[in-house]
Amino acid sequence: MRRSRTSPTRSLTRSLPGSRAAGDCVEKFHRVSRRHVRMPLGTHANKEGRTAGINIGGGYATFPGVIGTAVTKICNVEVGRTGLGVGEARAAGFDPVTAVVDSTTRAGYYPGARPIRTKLVAERGSGRLLGAQIVGEEGAAKRIDVLSVALWHETPVEELLNIDLSYAPPFSPLWDPVLIAARKAWQAVEDDRSRTEP
Ligand SMILES: Cc1cc2nc3c(=O)[nH]c(=O)nc-3n(C[C@H](O)[C@H](O)[C@H](O)COP(=O)(O)OP(=O)(O)OC[C@H]3O[C@@H](n4cnc5c(N)ncnc54)[C@H](O)[C@@H]3O)c2cc1C
Repeated sequence: MRRSRTSPTRSLTRSLPGSRAAGDCVEKFHRVSRRHVRMPLGTHANKEGRTAGINIGGGYATFPGVIGTAVTKICNVEVGRTGLGVGEARAAGFDPVTAVVDSTTRAGYYPGARPIRTKLVAERGSGRLLGAQIVGEEGAAKRIDVLSVALWHETPVEELLNIDLSYAPPFSPLWDPVLIAARKAWQAVEDDRSRTEP
């Protein structure tokens, strides 16, 4: 990737006195990889714009960075992502393990239940959540937001296992796909530990 774009400070100041930079024209600080990345999203641009506006108006605000959360829809397929994928995690110096879970968006017997696949990326050894991706039909993509909040707060996958998510048949299976994915990811971390520890 070409790194010609501006990397502003947390208060969005730049080297030019009095100027502020926000939006697609600036790199964002990625809170998981700890690197500046190019990630042109309206979600970031708007928050940066607000931050810049407060500072221009004489107040003080900082923009804490991003974790790369995004959703999109192609025909009836929804996709969501947050944090780092496996390749990105490796590039950032992590040693990742993954867990993939196929489930349904509602209780399996409930009308309208659609397939959903959830993938978690965790750090080998520590079990730290590094990222997640979700693909599926209606009701799939926005589930990524649960994982985004967990990632934002640096929740280990072990803690995700028992997080108190809601359930009723029209909305999810009793074990939400996010919880099953967390369980599998933690299992992968533990299996790996038992293989490598004496
Ligand atoms: C098709 C499409 C779909 C998208 N969907 C999503 C989405 O679903 N979710 C999401 O988070 N993000 C989405 N984005 C990204 C999002 O739109 C951008 O990240 C966001 O608009 C960037 O805001 P900005 O203010 O940095 O730039 P812009 O919104 O591009 O605003 C820049 C403004 O500056 C003006 N301008 C340019 N040059 C000059 C000049 N020399 N003088 C004066 N004015 C100038 C332009 O006309 C423009 O109005 C999408 C982008 C596209 C193109």
